[in-house]
Amino acid sequence: MAKYIFVAGGVMSGVGKGVATASIGKLLQSRGFKVTAIKIDPYVNVDAGTMNPTEHGEVFVLDEGTECDQDMGNYERFLGVDLPAINYMTTGSVYESVIHRERNMEYGGKCVEVVPHIPLEVIRRIEAAIKKAKADFITIEIGGTVGEYQNVLFLEAARMLRLKKPKDVLFVLVSYLPIPNKIGEMKTKPTQYAVRTLNSAGVQPDIILARSSVALDSKRKEKIALNCNMRQEDVISAPDIDTIYEVPINFEKDKMSDLILKKLSLKPRKTNLDDWRKLANISRTASKPVKIGIVGKYFGTGDFVLSDAYLSVIEAVKHAAFFHKRKPVISWINSEEFEKSDKALKSLKDYDGIIVPGGFGSRGVEGKIKSIEYCRKNKIPFLGLCYGMQLACVEFARHVCGLSKAHTTEIDKDTKYPVIDLMMEQKALLKENRYGGTMRLGAYYCRLNKGTRAAKAYGKELISERHRHRYEFNNEYRDLMVKNGLVVAGVNPERDLVEIIELKDHPFFVGAQFHPEFRSKPLDPHPLFKELVKAAIK
Ligand code: GLN
Repeated sequence: MAKYIFVAGGVMSGVGKGVATASIGKLLQSRGFKVTAIKIDPYVNVDAGTMNPTEHGEVFVLDEGTECDQDMGNYERFLGVDLPAINYMTTGSVYESVIHRERNMEYGGKCVEVVPHIPLEVIRRIEAAIKKAKADFITIEIGGTVGEYQNVLFLEAARMLRLKKPKDVLFVLVSYLPIPNKIGEMKTKPTQYAVRTLNSAGVQPDIILARSSVALDSKRKEKIALNCNMRQEDVISAPDIDTIYEVPINFEKDKMSDLILKKLSLKPRKTNLDDWRKLANISRTASKPVKIGIVGKYFGTGDFVLSDAYLSVIEAVKHAAFFHKRKPVISWINSEEFEKSDKALKSLKDYDGIIVPGGFGSRGVEGKIKSIEYCRKNKIPFLGLCYGMQLACVEFARHVCGLSKAHTTEIDKDTKYPVIDLMMEQKALLKENRYGGTMRLGAYYCRLNKGTRAAKAYGKELISERHRHRYEFNNEYRDLMVKNGLVVAGVNPERDLVEIIELKDHPFFVGAQFHPEFRSKPLDPHPLFKELVKAAIK
C-alpha cells in the first residue's frame, strides 16, 4: 500500500501549513499506519544552507547532513522519526539532478524538457522516499502558495501522479479565511480564488483545511463547498489554538483521519493518541513557569521579531519544560545590549536558565561572551549550542586561562590565541568560495567521558548528534584549558574533536559543538535540555 497526500497552501503563507501537514501525518500514524513526509521548497537554492535565517527561518539539519527547511523539523518532531535526505527537495536540487543525468547521457539522446522531465524527477523522489521508509502514507508539502510561478512544476507533478494513481493520491489545500476588522465577517472569497487557481493547474482539492482565527460556521462551510466544488464535510475547520500540540487533536474533532481513510477507500482503524493528548494537555495547563532566556542576535527584521530562526531551540525548551510539568517562558535577549553597558547584564539574574544558541559572524559576539561570563560567575544554568559552545571556550580562555583576546578565527583571523579555529579541509574550501553544503554537517558520533554531567544526562557512552559548523575547538589549547578546570565531556572518536565541554562547581554549565535541539522530540525530550530545565527549576 502506498498513499500520497499532497498539501499546498492558498491565500497566504505563514498560516501553519507545516504543522498542519505534520498533524495529518501524526493522525494517520496514530491509526497504526507507517508515515513519512516530504517538504518541497520552490526556490532555486539547492538547499536552505545558503540562506540567511532572517530570510527563511531556521536551517534544520538531517542525519545525512542535508540543510533544509524548518518544516522537516516539524515532521520529525510530530512523527517521532529521523527523516532521510531524499525527503527534502528544492527547485535547485531537482534541476541539478536532471542536468547531471542529462550530462551523463541518461536520457538516451532525448530532448530533455521542463515538462515532463522536471515533474518526473519530483515523482521519482517521492516514490524513492516512500519506498525507503517502507511507509503506507507519504505527505508531500509544496512550499509557497498556489498561484506562485515557482511551484507550478510541483503541482504538475501532483497532477501527473494522480493521473497515474487516481485511487492513491489525495490533495489537501490549507487555506486562510480572514475576518477583516471593519467588516467583522469571515470571508470565503480568497479561498474560492485559491481553489480556482489550483483548478487551472489541473488539480481539484479533496479536502480544504480552513485556517482562521475562529472555527468555521456551517454557513461558511456551505459557501466553500458550493463554490469550490466539494462537499461540506470535506471542509475542515482549523481555528487558531494556543499550542501546536493541539492541532492534530483539533483536526480529529472534525474527523480528519476518518475522512482521509474514507476517501482512499481504507478501512477505519482504532486511534491511539493517548501520549499525544497527555502532552497537549500539559502544554495547555502547566502553570508554574520556568524562565529561559535566549541570548542571540537574529531577533529583529524591521518591525518584527524573528524567533523562527531558533524554532528547534524553542521547541526543545518546551519539550523539556513539559517533561518537568512546567510552563516554558522564553525570552529573547539581544546580546548587543550587553556591549553597550555592563549594567544590562544584571537582568540575566531574572532568568532561571540561559541559552546561547548557534550563530555566525561578529554581530553581538562580545555581548554573548559577556553573558556567558556572567552565567559562569553567577552560577546561572547555561547551555551553549554550537557557536554558544565555541564562545564559552573563548570566554574561558580569556578570563580563566589568562589568554587575553583569545578568539575564534571566524571573528579575529590574527588572534594570538585561536582557541576556536577552522578545520584543515575547511581552509581549502573557503579559499575557493565553496560555501554551499560544505560545513561539517549531519550526524557524527561522540564518546562521552565517564562521570561527566553529559554522560549522566544521556545515560550512555556513545551518542550521535547533528552538526552544522566550520570552526572547531583547537586541540592545541586543550591541555591548558583542562588544567584550568574545563571538563572535556565528549569527543568525536574518529578525529578526536572536542564536542562537549562543561564546568564543575556550577549548577549546570554545558556547551555542545552539535545541535541537540535537532534531536529533541515532544514525546522524547533531549537529555541536555531536560538537565538544563531541571537545573533552572532548582
Ligand atoms: N559559526 C560557527 C561555525 O561555523 C558556529 C556555527 C553554528 O553555530 N551553527 O563553526
